[in-house]
Amino acid sequence: MTKSIEEKKEASRKASKKYWKNHREDMLLKCRGYRNKNKEKIRDYYRKWYAENGRNRAANYMEIILEYQQKYPERARARHRLRYALKKGKIKLPLKCEKCGKEGRVNAHHVNYSKALDIQWLCYSCHKLEHISKKNPLDKAPGKTEDYL
Ligand SMILES: [Zn+2]
Ligand SMILES: [Zn+2]
Repeated sequence: MTKSIEEKKEASRKASKKYWKNHREDMLLKCRGYRNKNKEKIRDYYRKWYAENGRNRAANYMEIILEYQQKYPERARARHRLRYALKKGKIKLPLKCEKCGKEGRVNAHHVNYSKALDIQWLCYSCHKLEHISKKNPLDKAPGKTEDYL
């Protein structure tokens, strides 16, 4: 009696399943072996990468912040007051951009730095545009939510 096509298919499916079941372990062990063997290499690679890219940045991170604060004391003050108001719950971080309505992370844009709590909440693109259109170059200060004030 000859097997039907379906039966043949089923048989080959089973065979390949069995193959993978038997060889999966081998493959995984091989991978693990590779990683173990190269652990040092990988670690060195990352160490080097961080030395070149990560740590250098972190080293002058505080300098950049301090420089920014000295350059723009009024902005630093506004930022400080805003942060305090946010912490105290006086101001709530909105979930969308006031200009285009895009939901997501918003940046605080100060219309007037002497009015620390007079803020426009803008998405990244709108904020950038706002600074460009006002010919107010975007002075990027390191930070998170209040990257640009
Ligand atoms: Zn926007
Ligand atoms: Zn701004």
